[in-house]
Amino acid sequence: MVATNYGKIDSRHSDVREFDFRNRMATTKVDYPKLPDDQDLYSGLIRLHVLHHAVEEPIFGLGMIEELARHGYRISPGTLYPLLHSLQKKGYLRSSEQLNGKSRRKIYRATPLGRKALGAAKNKVRELFHELMESD
Ligand SMILES: [Zn+2]
Repeated sequence: MVATNYGKIDSRHSDVREFDFRNRMATTKVDYPKLPDDQDLYSGLIRLHVLHHAVEEPIFGLGMIEELARHGYRISPGTLYPLLHSLQKKGYLRSSEQLNGKSRRKIYRATPLGRKALGAAKNKVRELFHELMESD
């Protein structure tokens, strides 16, 4: 499967509510147990995760699917691409085309607005983190 097959962005699904755990295209060797139906809880974390990596370096869809799988989030291209698209629409990411062998792929980087949004989110995450861990 080549990355360009995932390149189509479906704008009908810009509001991401579900993660497709049946999709096995994420090529991670780690097999996570099937999670209960609480993925809604993680959608914000996944957005922040994506934004964090887009601040660090250019990201592309398939690479990000693998990175998220490494953290235990199984996300299909049909979920991730609309998510990237919506972050771009909000002005947090910008995209460009990159040659990858003979094919092209879309890469994303954080914009200054995206960095700013991540910075603000970090403070909130830090606060929540401390509160969550205190009650343990
Ligand atoms: Zn990561």
